Amino acid sequence: MAQPTVGFIGLGAMGEPMAKRVAGAGFPLVVLDANADKAAEIAKVTGGTAAAHGKELAERADVIVTMLPSSDIVRAALDGDTGVIAGLKPGTVILEMSSGVPDTTRMIATELAAHNVTLLDCPVSGGVSRAISGELAIMAGGEDADFKLGEPVLATMGSSITRTGPVGSAHAMKALNNLVSAGGFLIGIEALLIGSRFGLDPALMVDVLNVSTGMNNSTQKKFKQFVLSRKFNAGFGLDLMVKDLGIALGVAETTGTTVPFAILCREMWQGAQKALGPGLDHTHMARFSEMLTGDELHPAAE
Ligand code: NAD
Repeated sequence: MAQPTVGFIGLGAMGEPMAKRVAGAGFPLVVLDANADKAAEIAKVTGGTAAAHGKELAERADVIVTMLPSSDIVRAALDGDTGVIAGLKPGTVILEMSSGVPDTTRMIATELAAHNVTLLDCPVSGGVSRAISGELAIMAGGEDADFKLGEPVLATMGSSITRTGPVGSAHAMKALNNLVSAGGFLIGIEALLIGSRFGLDPALMVDVLNVSTGMNNSTQKKFKQFVLSRKFNAGFGLDLMVKDLGIALGVAETTGTTVPFAILCREMWQGAQKALGPGLDHTHMARFSEMLTGDELHPAAE
């Protein structure tokens, strides 16, 4: 049986390598990005084609992946005369892989169901490196029968797929994962700043944390690579992290959960966004903590 055609919308830091994985597994690909040159380039290297707009993409695709910055942008891509909804065929499956807002996702899924179109929320964790290797951790919300329809495409991009419950649940899970990740980054950087003033080498501290109980994803994969190196180019935006923390706190609010530590964490990331400006990599957060204490983190060898 012929492979279903996959329409891929959003070819940024994550979408580009993910679309390449889908094409590499043999799925015919139609791509779309607000940056038309980018779409043309990805179409060329994957042997796919670029659609002029969402309507055309939807007319040609059986499965549609959205990998866009926010739920508002997903909404905008769906609506309008040339939007995705205008071209949808009954039976289409939409895999909403952006990190989105659970309530918005549920509303969109209900609306699409009236067109006999299924939406699953399938956000990812693992960053650009695991998007390139096809080893993302994928969370999937939706009905079991619907999930089966999207699973073969998801399997090309991730090495683990965890079913989280009904539609919207994966978007909640993803935001809560990033809350934990954001907190781990922040407390780790503050520990390095304290240790550095005490006379400890920050690079040595990272090594010790990584064989001790203070280890986390940031100590393992971010501090030496992107902070101590002063490269600040992990590939995940500070603005996107602040957006995800807002989603996590929205879930806390709707569930009536008291979370002072999470609120402080969001305040800190938002403070960094305001102080440092838009468009930066999230690892610049360390520079905000440095500004507060008046020191910079460098390995002792320097
Ligand atoms: P990005 O900003 O690098 O890419 C977004 C892409 O969407 C850009 O190419 C942009 O041109 C395109 N775009 C914007 N509006 C559009 C529209 N209306 N129609 C078509 N294309 C449009 O973002 P990213 O880092 O790839 O992140 C995408 C999503 O994945 C976000 O929700 C983010 O929170 C999530 N995420 C990112 C990472 C990461 O490490 N970067 C990891 C996990 C999840």
